[in-house]
Amino acid sequence: MARLGIFGGSFNPVHNGHLVMAQEAREFAGLDRMLWIPAQHPPHKKEPLALSVSLRRELLGLALADFPGHELDCRELTRPGPSFSVITAREVQREHPDKSLYFLIGEDSLADLHRWHAIEELCGLVEFLVAPRRGAGEVASDLLAIPNFRVRRVPGTPISISATLVRSRMRAGKSLRGYVPLPVEQRLRADTHG
Ligand code: ATP
Repeated sequence: MARLGIFGGSFNPVHNGHLVMAQEAREFAGLDRMLWIPAQHPPHKKEPLALSVSLRRELLGLALADFPGHELDCRELTRPGPSFSVITAREVQREHPDKSLYFLIGEDSLADLHRWHAIEELCGLVEFLVAPRRGAGEVASDLLAIPNFRVRRVPGTPISISATLVRSRMRAGKSLRGYVPLPVEQRLRADTHG
């Protein structure tokens, strides 16, 4: 059966950690395609988003322009209401009834996954792929208690890039070379200068 990946996030901004984890997950799980689905209002993030929706989308477009097997899907940016992953997974499954769905997260997200909206239903729709991340917490026992929770850990070394780090380097006027793809860096620099 064909395999389709879903990679949800705030991508605020997209960075090289995202790109590496998505590629490693795609290879590891043999995904035909990875759909990158930016969230409009990530329900589990309390802080207001630093970059506008239109800039986050534009930067993702630049990052994925030449990345075979990876595709930008902006459905959560246009759908009203909170960006619940379960609604997205339901939609993707309806559109691709012949495909198995995989949902990529970083290891840090495992600690609060059990609090995601309708997690039991989401667990029935997707198998989770978990990328290693430094400082990740324990898997909550509530999550392990969900009978249809399926998870595979993507082997590899943690990459210590986060959007928080990228934003703080931007604020400090430091270079983003190596942290984000070059066209993303150039676009962010143009935004900062004017
Ligand atoms: P922020 O620093 O603003 O919290 P972030 O770098 O975690 O952002 P998100 O867009 O919120 O980026 O992340 C989307 C998904 O990718 C989440 O599941 C997160 O755990 C995961 N992720 C992001 N960066 C990494 C990384 N370097 N290694 C592993 N997982 C990551």
